[in-house]
Amino acid sequence: MLVSAKEMLEKAKEGKYAVGQFNINNLEWTKAVLQAAQESKSPVILGVSEGAGKYMTGFKTVSAMVKAMLEEMKITVPVALHLDHGTYEGCYKCIEAGFSSIMFDGSHYSIEENVEKTRELVKICHEKGMSVEAEVGSIGGEEDGVIGLGECADPNECKAVADLGVTMLAAGIGNIHGKYPENWPGLRFDVLDAIQQKTGKMPLVLHGGTGIPDDMIQKAISLGVAKINVNTECQLVFAEATRKYIEAGKDLEGKGFDPRKLLAPGTEAIVQIVKEKMELFGSAGKA
Ligand SMILES: [Zn+2]
Repeated sequence: MLVSAKEMLEKAKEGKYAVGQFNINNLEWTKAVLQAAQESKSPVILGVSEGAGKYMTGFKTVSAMVKAMLEEMKITVPVALHLDHGTYEGCYKCIEAGFSSIMFDGSHYSIEENVEKTRELVKICHEKGMSVEAEVGSIGGEEDGVIGLGECADPNECKAVADLGVTMLAAGIGNIHGKYPENWPGLRFDVLDAIQQKTGKMPLVLHGGTGIPDDMIQKAISLGVAKINVNTECQLVFAEATRKYIEAGKDLEGKGFDPRKLLAPGTEAIVQIVKEKMELFGSAGKA
């Protein structure tokens, strides 16, 4: 059964570890992340972007597939199904489709409008027992076609949004979506520290988890990060494993062209990387 992300993130913040959000793109991705979570005895958040939702023909398809998979795979660890960087309209679609969590990305609105829309969505989600993530200060890199520069969130604005009753808060601290450039100066721990001091027990979210060095990840967790989003890294290992399979000519041997064989190395690569992340984040063995 799907659960809201609230309890798992509160436990994580309290226990000084982080729960990974792994974005899914299709059946193989979903199966791989769920298998890794079950084998690692870790809570997990399945992230679905608006683009991935569209790719899978709509949020209702995603929700039905995930719920059925939890049952068929006999998954017993807590799993949340979460809309990643949702638009206002997308949030309503996911609430209707039976997601257990949403992120409303109002970072491109004025703070006043962000607050107003967040308040409205928080009210609905609370009634339905769903968790809500809000974002303050846009996160750098490419976010569904929009390139941001990685500004830092204002701790006072974070406090204002946290007080609306959101479950978790994503704040820009110099993190970037996608691959990090060579000259990236690193995370702004001073800003993270200031945000945590203002927001107290609120679980903080680190987007753009691909390519942040392990020691920075651990320091971020020690400063209140309780959810870390991983997306690009799964895509990279999937592509690499699939390329190797084809370059080795395995698709030309016997029934190697069968999609269940062709996609197997990539799927297994996702299982492995997700397990590694669960160890790094400290969530393994916590469910
Ligand atoms: Zn993000």
